[in-house]
Amino acid sequence: MSISQKRACPSCGEQQSFIQVASTNLNIGEKTKWRCQECGYRSVRIGSTVDTANA
Ligand SMILES: [Zn+2]
Repeated sequence: MSISQKRACPSCGEQQSFIQVASTNLNIGEKTKWRCQECGYRSVRIGSTVDTANA
């Protein structure tokens, strides 16, 4: 079973379908890894916050 989600891919420069490739439970929340189906770009999300990019 795979979970996919529409997200903006910085590599493609447009919205793409990302597949969830991994999920880990941390004390700060659930860490999930996503991969762009188009280019293979990977991003990480922790909890409900967006990516590893620091705001
Ligand atoms: Zn992409």
